[in-house]
Amino acid sequence: MNDSAPKPVRVVVLGGGTAGWMTAAGVAKLLPGLASVQLVESEEIGIVGVGEATLPHIRGFVEKLGIDEAAFMKATHATFKLGIDFRDFGRIGESYIHPFGSFGEEVGGVGFHHYWLELARHGKAREIGDYSLAVAAAKANRFRPPSADDSLGSTYGYAYQFDATLFGPFMREFARGIGVERHEGRVVTVERDPASGDVTALVLADGRRIEGDLFIDCSGFRSILLGQELEVPWEDWTHWLPCDRAAAMPCTHATEDLRPYTTATAMPAGWRWQIPLQHRMGNGYVFSSAHISEEQACDAIRACAEGAPLAEPRILKFRPGRRARSWSHNVIGVGLASGFLEPLESTSIYLAQMAITYLIELFPAAAGAIDPRDRDEFNRLVDMEYDRVRDFLILHYHATTRDDSEFWNHVRTMRVPDSLADKLELWRRAGRIEKYSDGLFYDASWIAVYVGQGLLPEVHDPRAAMIAPDALARATERLRMAVTGEVAAMPGHRDYLRGEAARLADAA
Ligand SMILES: Cc1cc2nc3c(=O)[nH]c(=O)nc-3n(C[C@H](O)[C@H](O)[C@H](O)COP(=O)(O)OP(=O)(O)OC[C@H]3O[C@@H](n4cnc5c(N)ncnc54)[C@H](O)[C@@H]3O)c2cc1C
Repeated sequence: MNDSAPKPVRVVVLGGGTAGWMTAAGVAKLLPGLASVQLVESEEIGIVGVGEATLPHIRGFVEKLGIDEAAFMKATHATFKLGIDFRDFGRIGESYIHPFGSFGEEVGGVGFHHYWLELARHGKAREIGDYSLAVAAAKANRFRPPSADDSLGSTYGYAYQFDATLFGPFMREFARGIGVERHEGRVVTVERDPASGDVTALVLADGRRIEGDLFIDCSGFRSILLGQELEVPWEDWTHWLPCDRAAAMPCTHATEDLRPYTTATAMPAGWRWQIPLQHRMGNGYVFSSAHISEEQACDAIRACAEGAPLAEPRILKFRPGRRARSWSHNVIGVGLASGFLEPLESTSIYLAQMAITYLIELFPAAAGAIDPRDRDEFNRLVDMEYDRVRDFLILHYHATTRDDSEFWNHVRTMRVPDSLADKLELWRRAGRIEKYSDGLFYDASWIAVYVGQGLLPEVHDPRAAMIAPDALARATERLRMAVTGEVAAMPGHRDYLRGEAARLADAA
């Protein structure tokens, strides 16, 4: 570094959960020489320790950091995930998979779902999932990574399901290996500059002071810096997303088959997850405390577990919503400190990852040189991500015919955000999906939930009728057969994981 080069920005991360260690690792790795990173965590306080299912974007993060996938999966007992199997959401007894992949392909600028709707009009359509490789592979419990060409084998992505209590420590080892300095202790005081109001140091219970230029609040639901110290207001979304508790309980696997997907089953007062890891099954009932008690939720999750319980159910409490600003003064909230939307679509780690990505893109050039426009842009992007996820989650509750409990009556009849009402209108009228280029959940995701939950449009693109019904039926049948053939050639999920483990052992 020459004398005129700016000093690295001193970044202090408060919190050593998934968000904290991901942030520390990301900043240290991707801003070498531009940032120095210290992290404070308190073992006495601990971490949330759930959050096992992810979205495909996490692969980009793991790759950018230069982490070997097989080693990472072994360390966190991870499995592959091709999507989420939603059961009983639209109607009890019905299910569909929201895949990390497409349904068929666009022809002549017309989305496949319009052709599918046209076929359905002629009574010739099979389930839309039959035309998705990710759905078909998930149903068959098979897995192999997508191909790199543009063939049918490339039409899906995948994510991981991992043990959240092992992911943090894995990232911690990685981050410390690239120079992140760790401090163990409880932050009791936050020092601020009287003139600017910026945070200047964190003081630990034993008197140690950790000074910094930029503070990343990863303190979880406590939100020590953003919420408690800077008093950034919380926008509460309970009226749209009434679930505010979870009863989590791991159990053994009941069968040898290992599902390459998460299962979300609607329940009378919420829904429950099943997340298969290599060594166990994660279970949890996400519920509304206004509709059932904690005891009832614990009893329900005990009763639903397919394998033998490995622990007593643990209650986690949360409030859905987000901070009005994720970046205020020189404090940036990442993870639960900045917001939480329930785990129905496994979006929380994704939201933390996106905040880290935006932080790196908008990182100040030098200590004390935060440009308010960068801060505003960060807040705009993070808000957009949260709003998009919020609308998509609400859709799962609202697009239902269920009237079997007070909970479902509430969510079915509630007024939804205008942004979602507009999207619904666009779909209902003509099967259209709102177009956007940033953020989460593109066409296939919306189509999966709309169709899967029985919400079909009044009309579809008239261009889909330009192909004669018989020709259309033959073409889609060819596609379905190709999907079936691809799946038949894939190894079982567990076999694939065993092969990867053996390869890793050979390489060691
Ligand atoms: C029921 C439930 C299910 C979930 N499922 C999923 C899922 O499937 N997929 C997904 O992506 N996400 C999921 N999440 C979210 C996921 O768990 C979190 O996004 C993730 O764990 C990140 O948490 P965090 O690091 O922000 O907070 P935490 O894990 O709470 O970490 C907070 C850190 O701050 C430290 N800390 C706090 N106060 C102090 C202090 N005063 N001094 C020093 N240190 C302090 C703590 O010690 C800890 O290290 C789920 C969450 C819940 C509640």
